[in-house]
Amino acid sequence: MKREPQPVEEIKGIGEKTGKLFRKLGVETTRDLLHYYPRAYDAFHEPAAIGQLKEGVVGTVSGVLLKPPELLRINEMQIVVAVLKDLTGTIQLTWYNMPYIRTNLRTGILYVFRGRVARKKSRLTMDQPEIFLPEAYQKLIHSLQPVYGQTKGLGNKTISRAVAWVLKSQEEEPEYLPEKLRKKYALEDFSAALTHIHFPKDENELLFARRRLVFDEFFFFLIGVRRLKEQRGVKKSSFVMKNSVLTDRFMQALPYKLTSAQERAWEEIRRDLQGGLVMNRLVQGDVGSGKTILAVLSLLETAENGFQGALMVPTEVLAKQHFESMETLLIENGIHHEAVLVTGSMTAKEKRIAYEKIRTGEAKIIVGTHALIQEKVEYPSLALVITDEQHRFGVGQREALGEKSRNTPHVMVMSATPIPRTLAIILYGDLDISVIDELPANRLPIKNCVVGTDYRKNAYAFITRQVLQGRQAYVICPMVEESEMIEAENVLDYTKKLQKELPSSICVEYLHGKLKGKEKNQIMERFAAGEIQVLVSTTVIEVGVNVPNATVMMIENAERFGLAQLHQLRGRVGRGKYQSYCIMINCADDGEDGDTKKRLDILNHSNDGFYIAAEDLKLRGPGDIFGVRQSGEMEFKLADIFTDANLLKTVSEEVNRLLEEDPELEQEEHRELKIKLEEYAQEGYEKVNL
Ligand code: ADP
Ligand code: MG
Repeated sequence: MKREPQPVEEIKGIGEKTGKLFRKLGVETTRDLLHYYPRAYDAFHEPAAIGQLKEGVVGTVSGVLLKPPELLRINEMQIVVAVLKDLTGTIQLTWYNMPYIRTNLRTGILYVFRGRVARKKSRLTMDQPEIFLPEAYQKLIHSLQPVYGQTKGLGNKTISRAVAWVLKSQEEEPEYLPEKLRKKYALEDFSAALTHIHFPKDENELLFARRRLVFDEFFFFLIGVRRLKEQRGVKKSSFVMKNSVLTDRFMQALPYKLTSAQERAWEEIRRDLQGGLVMNRLVQGDVGSGKTILAVLSLLETAENGFQGALMVPTEVLAKQHFESMETLLIENGIHHEAVLVTGSMTAKEKRIAYEKIRTGEAKIIVGTHALIQEKVEYPSLALVITDEQHRFGVGQREALGEKSRNTPHVMVMSATPIPRTLAIILYGDLDISVIDELPANRLPIKNCVVGTDYRKNAYAFITRQVLQGRQAYVICPMVEESEMIEAENVLDYTKKLQKELPSSICVEYLHGKLKGKEKNQIMERFAAGEIQVLVSTTVIEVGVNVPNATVMMIENAERFGLAQLHQLRGRVGRGKYQSYCIMINCADDGEDGDTKKRLDILNHSNDGFYIAAEDLKLRGPGDIFGVRQSGEMEFKLADIFTDANLLKTVSEEVNRLLEEDPELEQEEHRELKIKLEEYAQEGYEKVNL
């Protein structure tokens, strides 16, 4: 097979039906598949003595069954139970609804069993263990098997078989990084790295492959950033603005005074808007530092100068919320500028009306999701483009919105990612940076606790008391619905449970990403209006949502989230004048010295995003790629800007050197690189999950 990307249906054994499922995972072509990296790796260890098995994790034992397994029937379920003994202990092996296991397993034969170990009523058990013959297991020992992100109907085996097939049957990709670079940094060949990231022989091979691919991710990303900088660089502004009295009055009329950090940022923005060059500015500030108001002020100033401004956000929920709070602010202040909303879930008619207002220039303030760039909207006088929660967008998306304008508009991006300034300068190399390093003064620090599952009853009582005082609560679960593969709380069942547990006067509803846009908006509106008091949700509310009356954030399976993500989630409370609380339920409970406990303790003791990121890094140490990733930072698939910070700096220097020496990549040794860059540009190789 040629190396040009082919539709996934070209892969052996994949028809239309499976093809659809792959597309659901965002995998459309063979190339997508090769870049669909494993989420984790399964390690096969030497079998252990029963007495040495650790609870809560996957373990392996070997032994001979002395008695045939039993088949029990409990309710509708058929359960096969076998008992394995050695000198150090006894363990019960249990299989649910797999009655055939009883006839397959024989006494007197040596087997290897591998599965999650648990203790049930003081008895050690292994649920649904995989069964191997010793010879077969021996072959797997010390190997790492890829574990992919899966979807219903498309399991790990199918995905990993498809990857293996493509790797085997496709022509090798030519190497495109100059040899000089590969030598200097001892980088693996691209093709080999691609094979080894999917099927590493051992951890070393995996780390080696990963390093090469992370290098590439940074490399292409930074070339993109550099190109942007060159394109936009010192462009003359076609939208030179003047101070608007109305904006000043509006600011005076706000129910609060801007913090001095906000004031400083606003001055910097204003200076840019009024200067002769287009603005390229990053506004960086921790959750709750009050970035939105800067967007509002900028949009208002732009409208007052007779131009259009657009604010693009990563989720519908957030778009709707920004839009409504902005509309209220404008109306309250008797300001006549009309704001319009553009989201994917609007009806065709609603969209038509909105577009018409944009096209005629009647609407000067525009808020929306990436629908703003996807749809055919024309902006006659787009002078300012703002993206909120920038890390959720690709650089390309930010630019695409700017291209809707005949003249280069001012660009402002807002981000809550707590990255140190040195990294920000590299990652946002094309932007000037304003930092909001101060929280509004009226804030009470959030009170945190990390507790075990036995604390739930207290938490519910606490939430009830808060609701009776007029406040509201979020409860976060990692899953939408029950899954056989992953043991974690899910939104649907949890909502039912809470509806029973809490007094019936309390309205408990749920929210998750699989709901339709309209439904999500309705739920969020009712929560914002205080009609819903307890909202059970997945992490869809993670970015930007602002309901200052909510004071409790309870997070189930806190151990399953990255620290940065937990910090973002927690940032949904403590946004108003009331004391707020964050209850993190640690379901892993790995003891006082456990890694999970240590990790969560960092959050327990600090509300400062920068500090958390730094501590997290210390705890994990560089190269800890099995840990929970910080978050889906920027558009990187493998790279983590924190753990890979050093590599990022190195690549940045190399990219600078390369583009200085050969700006157009015309030298012979850069030929393949140029081809690769063009390929990526054509494919729009920046898929983001929205
Ligand atoms: P983020 O930086 O996370 O986007 P927001 O802009 O949503 O934060 O602001 C969070 C809350 O703080 C909002 O309710 C907003 O009205 C309020 N706020 C913003 N600036 C100030 C300020 N200077 N003083 C008091 N409250 C403020
Ligand atoms: Mg925000």
